[in-house]
Amino acid sequence: MFPLSIERIPDVDEALRPAIRDFIAREMPPIDAARRSRSWMGFDADFSRKLGQAGFLGLTLPRRYGGGERGYFARFVVVEELLSAGAPISAHWIADRQSGPQIARFGTETQRQRYLPALCRGEAFFCIGMSEPDSGSDLASVRTRAIPDGDGYRLTGRKIWTTNAHHAHYMVALVRTSGGPDDRQAGLSQVIIDLTLPGITVRPLLDLAGDEHFNEVTFDDVRLGPDSLLGQEGQGWAQVNAELALERSGPERLLSSIVLLDALIAWQRSLAQPDPVAVAEIGAMHARLIVLRSMSIGLTAMVERGENPLIPSAVLKDIGTHGEQALAEIVTRLVGADPTRSAPPDVLGALAYISQMSPTFSLRGGTREILRGMIARGLGLR
Ligand SMILES: Cc1cc2nc3c(=O)[nH]c(=O)nc-3n(C[C@H](O)[C@H](O)[C@H](O)COP(=O)(O)OP(=O)(O)OC[C@H]3O[C@@H](n4cnc5c(N)ncnc54)[C@H](O)[C@@H]3O)c2cc1C
Repeated sequence: MFPLSIERIPDVDEALRPAIRDFIAREMPPIDAARRSRSWMGFDADFSRKLGQAGFLGLTLPRRYGGGERGYFARFVVVEELLSAGAPISAHWIADRQSGPQIARFGTETQRQRYLPALCRGEAFFCIGMSEPDSGSDLASVRTRAIPDGDGYRLTGRKIWTTNAHHAHYMVALVRTSGGPDDRQAGLSQVIIDLTLPGITVRPLLDLAGDEHFNEVTFDDVRLGPDSLLGQEGQGWAQVNAELALERSGPERLLSSIVLLDALIAWQRSLAQPDPVAVAEIGAMHARLIVLRSMSIGLTAMVERGENPLIPSAVLKDIGTHGEQALAEIVTRLVGADPTRSAPPDVLGALAYISQMSPTFSLRGGTREILRGMIARGLGLR
């Protein structure tokens, strides 16, 4: 089920690392550790545009659409560096990771030409419309309906938890184009929705950290044009599964707490006598990350070969998010264990944010229980 061969990042892609590090050193706005901890939840449209201008977006997309035509390992290197630095990358994140590759793979020529160049320039931002108020884990029960109407569709329904819908230009949504919720996967399609269309209401929702990053999006008889269908009508389920493997296999499933880990290491290095318990925990966390990174590289090799690592990426996301969450608990214990050695603001700021958000790490992109069900199915146990 899992790739057993040890893969490595090809030298040609590894060679990108100094360039993206230089870019970050030059262009990243000075932000404190609490803001750096947000990273793929942190919105900065200017930063994304500069990344696009420098050629760091759309690395997996064909050159004729403005992409880098470099493949998934080049993106892996860039993503790893951006996340490690805590760069604010949410503006382009979803477009670069999944909407772009989905449109390149399933879109019409007109759709590719319309969306991909703008997305590669960091000027077209996307969001993902899968979850609904009554359809989260049970995604096949989505009720948002696109009824064929003339040469297009009329769209009615509601999406929820839609990251960045309030900043995004477009949504790629999973909707029902025929049948009812009991038909499950049959009758589902993907559509590209221009979020400026009449009849769309985007209502930001506050998360526990006080940020507005996800939304409720309501569609009230929205008229979609003929070129809104992405891929084939009725093939939405298969298409979404291809997209979810991209969503779950990357290094972001390991690095949500990396700014906190770095702050912890810097704190311990600054002490004349580092706390031996902290040193042991840092060592254990480091060992875990090295193994998980190897798994993520293995999955990237599968994506690069055109395979769909849906189940192994569920394994990676489950173990990866477990480590991200454990770090917040470990640092809380370390900070609390010896109040006479007060932790620096970087540690406390990152810890406050990660502690509040870490429960979401194993919800977003599919919950832990759902992933474990998939793994059991992959092992022939269900
Ligand atoms: C930070 C964040 C960002 C998000 N961004 C987006 C986004 O951009 N776009 C989008 O579409 N969605 C997004 N989501 C939504 C996310 O995908 C859903 O929250 C998730 O899939 C769970 O769905 P739900 O919230 O409806 O919970 P439910 O499906 O109601 O689940 C509730 C609990 O029951 C458990 N459960 C449900 N079914 C089973 C089962 N069969 N077996 C065992 N346990 C089960 C779940 O594991 C969970 O613990 C985001 C969520 C978060 C937290």
